Amino acid sequence: MARTKTDQPKLNFDGLWDYDPAPESSDAISIKDQYDLFIGGEFVAPSKEGRYFDTINPSTEERIASVAEATTQDVDIAVKSARKAYDKYWSKLTGKDRAKYIFRIARLIQERAREFAIIESMDGGKPIRESRDVDIPLVAAHFFYNAGWADKLQYAFPGRQPKPLGVAGQIIPWNFPLLMLAWKIAPALAGGNTVVLKPAETTPLTALKFAELIQDADLPPGVVNIVTGAGATGSALVNHPDVNKVAFTGSTNVGRIIQKSLAGTDKKYTLELGGKAANIIFEDAAIDQAVEGIVNGIFFNQGHVCCAGSRLLVQEGVADEVYRKLTDRIETLVVGDPLDKNTDIGAINSKAQLDRISTFIEKGIAEGGEVHQSSCSVPDKGYWCKPTLFKNVSQSHSIVQNEIFGPVLAIQTFRTPAEAVEKANNTPYGLSGGVWTDKGSKIFKITSKLRAGVIWANTFNKFDPTSPFGGYKESGVGREGGLHGLLPYIKL
Ligand code: NAD
Repeated sequence: MARTKTDQPKLNFDGLWDYDPAPESSDAISIKDQYDLFIGGEFVAPSKEGRYFDTINPSTEERIASVAEATTQDVDIAVKSARKAYDKYWSKLTGKDRAKYIFRIARLIQERAREFAIIESMDGGKPIRESRDVDIPLVAAHFFYNAGWADKLQYAFPGRQPKPLGVAGQIIPWNFPLLMLAWKIAPALAGGNTVVLKPAETTPLTALKFAELIQDADLPPGVVNIVTGAGATGSALVNHPDVNKVAFTGSTNVGRIIQKSLAGTDKKYTLELGGKAANIIFEDAAIDQAVEGIVNGIFFNQGHVCCAGSRLLVQEGVADEVYRKLTDRIETLVVGDPLDKNTDIGAINSKAQLDRISTFIEKGIAEGGEVHQSSCSVPDKGYWCKPTLFKNVSQSHSIVQNEIFGPVLAIQTFRTPAEAVEKANNTPYGLSGGVWTDKGSKIFKITSKLRAGVIWANTFNKFDPTSPFGGYKESGVGREGGLHGLLPYIKL
């Protein structure tokens, strides 16, 4: 349908497009004032009376709800409940019956997609367009995909006898709360395991809404348990003696602690950790398309993305053109209310994360980097970071070496393909990368030399449940997604 005149965006004083607000209403969603732990199919109070913490909306700094803090004792009760559910129900079901439950979960997520998307944006700060169009559809897709395997495991691993591991302890971060839950719970259930999952302390709400969905799906009690809390709760789960498999997504530092504490035990583990991906733009690339890819690579989800293209490597001949187009493009990015459908960049997830990003920006300037930020205004309340570009930085700069996990792009140039590969690989991480060129042969040549788990060519940040995801070096151990992601939940 053609836009009517009144629908047209207006020009503001700077001659840029301005849109009227288009807020998604949160009237229809229900959030309780207080959430208990979800253990054995019921919400139960934490063992230490009154142990609750607030979860806040990072775009308003207002409290949304309070959430129970699970102690070591609570984690023990949750693991016992998962073990009982494993012995009594889940391991006795046929794959076909497990698949029915997982399909039911997928369909219920689709039915409640709007509610999940709104709560995800309120609790985490991400734009509603992303939670509505990316996160929640992918959550459903992961459950559908894994449901499909539940009764076909003998074909997934031909000639072998696939068996579940038992109880999985799963710990997830705050950047894609419900999606990370799906990456963990869907393959675990499909493989015949029961789970205890701990969401991140700043974004527990969609996991608790998921617990309500598990009740509605009528899953046998204890098959899925959700314990909320911070690092100590996570540590209690990792170190519980009756957990058979630990699945962790989070920072490399915590990944190291977990790997040390699991050394010498027979627990299986996967660690999905940080990244510092290079997005490489060759002179023969479609430049406008590449600029969109760079923007998507670093500003999607405020740059809170493990596989973000946080380093730009651009060939010298087109460096000025790319930089000029990038500075123009970031002026058009709308920063603000995550629930507004026009918003491109929402709120930074927490005050602590904003402080971390600001420290890196200050360091980048102190070390001689040339900074450029969008001239946009940001709301007075809440945690915000304008889209930020850095030029004049080299391999040794801290903003080139470290994962900032925010909307900050470090830009470097290169002359030859060999130099691009050398710079791209010169990082402790190895999670992802991007290559932009008109030449198919160059794509194969360069991607085969990049030491990263996922590499996109002429696109970025494309995800699919059938495709494995994971890193090399300090980006982690193991893969999630696809059959590679199902395997860590299976004994062959
Ligand atoms: P984090 O490591 O601080 O926390 C992640 C989770 O671990 C949280 O639930 C936290 O409560 C818990 N935790 C903290 N200390 C713990 C301990 N000692 N034992 C057990 N659990 C503990 O990470 P974050 O800041 O929440 O997330 C950002 C990080 O996650 C980034 O480094 C990002 O790259 C990474 N990440 C990786 C992937 C991937 O697939 N590779 C995906 C998303 C995020």
